[in-house]
Amino acid sequence: MLVFILNAGSSSLKYQLMNPINKEVLAVGICERIGIDGVLTHQFKEDGKIKKEISMPTHKEAIELVLKTLTEGEGAVIASINKIEAIGHRAVHGGEKFSVSTIVTPIVIEEMRKLIPLAPLHNPANIMGMEICQDLMPGIPNVAVFDTAFHQTMPDYAYMYPLPYEQYSKHGIRKYGFHGTSHFFVSNEAQGMLDKKHNTRIIVCHLGNGSSVSAVLNGKCIDTSMGLTPVQGLMMGTRAGDVGAGAISYMMTQEGLSIDETLDIMNKKSGILGISGKSSDLREVLEGMKNGDDKCRLAVEMVAYNIKKYVGAYVAALDGIDALCFTGGIGENSALIREIVCAGLDGMGLIIDPTKNNKRSSVAKDIATNSSAARIFVIPTNEEYVIANDTYKIVSAL
Ligand code: AMP
Repeated sequence: MLVFILNAGSSSLKYQLMNPINKEVLAVGICERIGIDGVLTHQFKEDGKIKKEISMPTHKEAIELVLKTLTEGEGAVIASINKIEAIGHRAVHGGEKFSVSTIVTPIVIEEMRKLIPLAPLHNPANIMGMEICQDLMPGIPNVAVFDTAFHQTMPDYAYMYPLPYEQYSKHGIRKYGFHGTSHFFVSNEAQGMLDKKHNTRIIVCHLGNGSSVSAVLNGKCIDTSMGLTPVQGLMMGTRAGDVGAGAISYMMTQEGLSIDETLDIMNKKSGILGISGKSSDLREVLEGMKNGDDKCRLAVEMVAYNIKKYVGAYVAALDGIDALCFTGGIGENSALIREIVCAGLDGMGLIIDPTKNNKRSSVAKDIATNSSAARIFVIPTNEEYVIANDTYKIVSAL
């Protein structure tokens, strides 16, 4: 089965064409600057690559262009659109309504519309992607795979905020968590890598431009660091993560900021970028630190310290730990961040092996010493595979 995977953002659109049965990826690409001008990057076969500037006034033109590129000319990988048997959509916010992936129906789209206040940038783009695909590829089933779904197993005492209860009952204000497909994929892989098969206690650190940690007991999420929105939890590329409400209101008063301006700062100008003053990209900040930039040093130490605090908290939440997993651009590639996070955690049964940690690998590996009571895994995430596989399973059962 060939599944077309779509991740529609407000001005970008990522796609893949994948066979979930053998995990073969036929093409992968991204449309950027939709509504501004338009840039398509399309990768296919071994090392085929097309990059072109082409007008994309809306997502409709972008998806039309992708379908044309997949079927015609140099970048073609299938003879016709009819070869696509299902479409899997990354959907950001499923609220409490969606705890599993689901076939897209008018009712599902209506429910996703109701959740727009919780994800004002993402859900409208996701819905748009679904409606355009229904329009351009009638008869091909669409499946929504929610970023929040994996975290729906959290117990109430973990997902509730200690605000007046009616804030939850009236407005659904609670923690939802994100990066669910990645946390599911990585914890599932880790479970397979462990000798132990029962009472598995796994912590997943998804560390990329956006970052979150989750605690997974027997394959079910019991806590995660992001909240009602992705701005909570770890310090990220540009997001602040956890900041006291008093500090935020004081900053607003001092600077005369509106709520929107404040959220803009907390989402787009804080985190690694805000502290380093240099970049949101950890590689550049590590480089700055090497060259003696003290703000870069501070940003790196804050990033690692924040992760370490969550690891400690989640070891407690899980009553112990069997595996700590690192994934995402930072988690998979930065040996230094992994080293700082794990330093001194021997008492928790986590002992990192420096040689294994520093050895590069594109496949999952165990970087704990042989004597470490718990494993430390580096596992490349594969969110697209989760979307393709859920889509395949749902469509096959229709
Ligand atoms: P992602 O959002 O998962 O693509 O991750 C992006 C983040 O991973 C950026 O902050 C990159 O700087 C970081 N990253 C990628 N490669 C490396 C590396 N070799 N060392 C440190 N950070 C890296």
